[in-house]
Amino acid sequence: MIELRQINKTYGSGAGVVQALKDIDLTVRKAEIFGIIGHSGAGKSTLIRTINLLERPTSGQVMVDGTDITSLPHHRLQERRRSIGMIFQHFNLLSSLSVHDNIAFPLRLSKQPKAETERRVKELIGLVGLEDHADKHPAQLSGGQKQRVGIARALATNPKVLLCDEATSALDPQTTQSILALLLEINRKLHITIVLITHEMQVIRAICDRVAVLDGGMIVESGDVASVFLKP
Ligand code: ADP
Ligand code: ADP
Repeated sequence: MIELRQINKTYGSGAGVVQALKDIDLTVRKAEIFGIIGHSGAGKSTLIRTINLLERPTSGQVMVDGTDITSLPHHRLQERRRSIGMIFQHFNLLSSLSVHDNIAFPLRLSKQPKAETERRVKELIGLVGLEDHADKHPAQLSGGQKQRVGIARALATNPKVLLCDEATSALDPQTTQSILALLLEINRKLHITIVLITHEMQVIRAICDRVAVLDGGMIVESGDVASVFLKP
């Protein structure tokens, strides 16, 4: 589903150069939950953001569903991005919009017919369990509810892939569990491929099928969660 080939990323130049990713090769299979774990500064955020080219790699290819998206012209890339949803640590909701309108936002951007947008938003609100909060604004919601809005918005355009950038790091343990359960449900029900980054082992253990360990911009270990973490 996703294949990163020989990805390198450097920031800055001259004496200030930082090599954030070094020779990354990574394959994420269709409909799996793939976790990337590492310490702060390991390159996790850079890595997940190369998958939708929010961050352009300095070299290497990003294959999504058989297409090398690094070589697409701008308008084709925009089109492709609709098949990749993303959620964030700090939710990135629009504070002036209601829950309903935050979720509708990507559909309005892609000029969906109004009736279709309404039908889809209702369905998504049901999926994430926010039926009683559709008219509220983000400031009136708990952290977990905000992330539910983020998830619904990310799924609005029916993506095949959901990228999760430290999606539970701002949440308390109990809320984290409920958001992880929702992600697992979405993966199993809708067969959406999920890639998540985290610095927390328990997130990997709770829902991931496979994991890669990132350190200093390099993958130092990868495989099934059980084989990577439960060694004697
Ligand atoms: P993580 O998400 O694991 O904390 P990051 O991908 O954010 O790691 O960062 C990896 C390295 O790249 C770090 O050394 C960080 O300081 C550096 N870095 C990240 N973003 C930038 C940027 N926009 N400009 C310069 N350096 C950056
Ligand atoms: P961090 O990983 O440092 O906590 P976030 O992942 O929350 O930061 O957000 C990183 C940046 O990406 C934000 O400044 C935001 O403006 C930008 N961003 C958020 N959503 C999107 C999107 N759908 N498309 C493009 N850029 C986005």
